[in-house]
Amino acid sequence: MHNASQPRATLRALQADITTLPVDAIVNAANTSLLGGGGVDGAIHRAAGAELLAVCRTLNGCQTGDAKITAGFRLPARHIIHTVGPIWRGGKANEAALLAACYRRSLELAADAKAKTVAFPCISTGVYGYPPELAAPLAINSARDALKEFSGIQEVLFCCFSREDFELYARLLAQG
Ligand code: ADP
Repeated sequence: MHNASQPRATLRALQADITTLPVDAIVNAANTSLLGGGGVDGAIHRAAGAELLAVCRTLNGCQTGDAKITAGFRLPARHIIHTVGPIWRGGKANEAALLAACYRRSLELAADAKAKTVAFPCISTGVYGYPPELAAPLAINSARDALKEFSGIQEVLFCCFSREDFELYARLLAQG
């Protein structure tokens, strides 16, 4: 029997370059300008091509904790959801709520776009300095919560770049 309190979507960790994933939507850890940057943002802009930047220029940026969606252009992914994670300032500057909002809002936009498979990078844990061991359980719990609401999404992938991040997510997801 289907238990309504359990999301039907599966959550999975993998170690990969997110720009290579043939999913309905990948999430970009962008900055408020939405005009590209380093890390995963730079990799996504390079792989998607110049058309992405042209469209991003029309979006008027994005607030921290919010997200905006574009096409995937040259990526194998159909859509890119650009979200802006918080910069880590020690943990007392609303970072957790803002990071949770990134996951929720990204899944909301993914559901609006009828995406069934969505891949996230480890938002805020690179240049923005959010401790991975705090960000990972928050990412998983936020995604689980949002998936109860956005039932069209079937699979959420936590796309880890490093072996350490992959092992962290795999361990947390195995705990259920
Ligand atoms: P932020 O500014 O939000 O911290 P970063 O891009 O600096 O964003 O880092 C976020 C995470 O993205 C880090 O875990 C980093 O290792 C990872 N990352 C960098 N390049 C890629 C990529 N091509 N695919 C997936 N993850 C990536």
